[in-house]
Amino acid sequence: MSLTRLFVADKLVQGSELHLGEERAHYLGRVLRLRSGDTVHPFNGDDGEWSATIGHIGKSRVTLMVQDHVPNTAESRLKIHLAQGISRGERMDFVVQKATELGVKRISPMLTAHGVVKLDSKRAEKRRIHWQRVAESACEQSGRIRPPLIDAPLRLNDWFGSTRDRGDTDLILRPGTETSLADIATPQIKLCLLVGPEGGFSEQEVDDAGIAGFAPVSLGPRILRTETAAVAALAIAQSLWGDI
Ligand code: SAH
Repeated sequence: MSLTRLFVADKLVQGSELHLGEERAHYLGRVLRLRSGDTVHPFNGDDGEWSATIGHIGKSRVTLMVQDHVPNTAESRLKIHLAQGISRGERMDFVVQKATELGVKRISPMLTAHGVVKLDSKRAEKRRIHWQRVAESACEQSGRIRPPLIDAPLRLNDWFGSTRDRGDTDLILRPGTETSLADIATPQIKLCLLVGPEGGFSEQEVDDAGIAGFAPVSLGPRILRTETAAVAALAIAQSLWGDI
């Protein structure tokens, strides 16, 4: 059985005790059938990954004793920011999960002109928290220690107009363009990929992206679904410039 990794909010220091609640107690005790004395690996983005021994494990609580720091090499050196047109429920979850596996540092969910998902601010925050949880569990599975930051959903135009955190390589995925990712110079600071939702971008959005400094790139002659496009672009970028 592979080692159980747990993303935790707590600070991790050698010798400290962690007290986790019902959800974790259920998962470790009932689902994985772990017992007192078994080892798990808690981690968080600031303190890294640690080995820990299960102390008490009950129905609603589990105690972990933090032991040793464990080196982790799974974080990507290439900084990638994915700006993704929000797609329907499962597709967006898929993108968040796969993007995390592929090493993305930040995901900005975008409300776009042709996007089918409409969110008021209360629902938008609920979705953001849900995506953050999807990303944390993708970190547990993939060996990463630092979950990507998931921004609150934002209108694409507001984002272009904002003082967004710019890197040196901003690309918009645009079918039918001549340029491919292999034609782009190695990003030195940060790569930002802008991917359209199911319905693609409007002409206006493509123009605005150009003004905002996004260069168009193609992923070949076939139209990919939005989630395929995001995953393919990330895998190609990691292969060209990162650690794949
Ligand atoms: N009917 C839409 C297709 C949208 S596909 C259109 O013609 O624009 C969803 C998104 O995936 C697109 O907005 C684009 O960002 C990306 N995409 C899909 N296939 C692509 C390709 N071959 N090259 C570049 N981007 C692609």
